[in-house]
Amino acid sequence: MIHNEKVSHRQPAEAIVRNLRAHGYSAYFVGGCVRDLLLGHEPKDFDIATDAVPSQVFQIYPQAQQVGAHFGVVLVEGVEVATYRSDYAYEDGRRPGEVRYETNPMLDAARRDFTLNALFLDPETGEVLDFVDGRADLRNGVVRAIGDPAARFQEDYLRMLRAIRFAARLGFAIEPGTAGAIRTLSHLSTAIAAERVRDEIVRILTEGGARRGCELLDELGLLEHLLPEVARMKGVEQPPEYHPEGDVWTHTLIMLEGLQQPTSTLALGVLLHDVGKPPTFRVADRIRFDGHVEAGVEIAHAILTRLKFSNEEIRQVELLVANHMKFKDAPRMKESTLKKFMRLPDFDEHLELHRLDCSSSHNMFDNYEFVRAKRQAYGEEQIAPAPLLTGKDLIAAGYSPGPWFSQVLSAVEDAQLEGRIANKDEALQIASSMRQPASEPAST
Ligand code: ATP
Ligand code: MG
Repeated sequence: MIHNEKVSHRQPAEAIVRNLRAHGYSAYFVGGCVRDLLLGHEPKDFDIATDAVPSQVFQIYPQAQQVGAHFGVVLVEGVEVATYRSDYAYEDGRRPGEVRYETNPMLDAARRDFTLNALFLDPETGEVLDFVDGRADLRNGVVRAIGDPAARFQEDYLRMLRAIRFAARLGFAIEPGTAGAIRTLSHLSTAIAAERVRDEIVRILTEGGARRGCELLDELGLLEHLLPEVARMKGVEQPPEYHPEGDVWTHTLIMLEGLQQPTSTLALGVLLHDVGKPPTFRVADRIRFDGHVEAGVEIAHAILTRLKFSNEEIRQVELLVANHMKFKDAPRMKESTLKKFMRLPDFDEHLELHRLDCSSSHNMFDNYEFVRAKRQAYGEEQIAPAPLLTGKDLIAAGYSPGPWFSQVLSAVEDAQLEGRIANKDEALQIASSMRQPASEPAST
């Protein structure tokens, strides 16, 4: 997983607010948790804002921990307690140059990104402090920058992606002035640290509203800067007999719309499965995309490497792209080939990508149903049985190790997967029928 989100619960957070107040400080729930509570959603975690400075929080909670990356934030029993502060003098569109503690929560609201993220809630009375008309925007479903949108995005370019994430996830509109500023400044997004872009893109793709998120990335100009290879899918026509839904981008958007709480790799696999089509587009007897799978694997690799995804994630997305056309061959595959196909790691992701691929195009699920039924019928033991023969067995039978071994073991495995042999003796018969070439060394 990419995120190591802290998860905190309401009760301990409420107790901390009460305790800070008992010590004479001001304290509220703030930010995402207030937004989520007012929307009737379950908050992922509870954040607290207070006028107590960290040293004062430590006096009350000696066990508390300093949160390294965040100035003025202390972790108390898993809950982030942040001192009211204002941020000044952003220099590079990445971090504030100077931060100042404040005693007035209004100033803390002003440094936050969007009105819906700047509400304070008194958990005991339910009173909401709203300095930025955030409640009205929540009611009306609007993501609106606090203050001058262009200035706020120039302070921190990441906010452009955050705006899209919140709009997509909540199904909100982006206020026109806010959207316009993103469009104007979208080119600055290339200066955001790759890891942060990566995390936002994953969240846009996996937290709900992936289609809308990608449409917004496109409309507001970020797609072209951050994922130009994906932007190229727009307007790339497809043969209507296979793709009545339209061009490659439309096809991909419909698939994104069908994602249900996907893993990051499935979502990326969907986004990138046809990314090899634009460069391989060709009109012959009909529109063709010869080699689009191989091209897609390469492009996916380049994108995900650039965005600093883990090798493991890159590998899985590459496999999803590389194998997405194989389903159409499944009914004609040899049993051994089909079983080996099903052994792909996280095969469920391959299946789901294929299902989405069908439902966003011709709507024929024969191959999907075929593979699913076979997989069920085989069960894990038949798909990946314990090998009947190993290299050790071959040595014990008097053969000397060499490249020939892997040919034998692979032939034996295929025979086993196809149900032609069932024990070691039969496996050894295959070995003896495949004479070891004399050129191989007789011993080591
Ligand atoms: P999520 O549910 O995705 O965690 P969140 O609103 O809690 O949403 P966080 O990234 O956890 O988002 O940040 C907590 C709060 O800190 C936000 O609600 C917002 O008020 C403020 N914040 C976070 N990032 C920024 C930023 N880049 N610029 C300004 N304020 C920010
Ligand atoms: Mg949060």
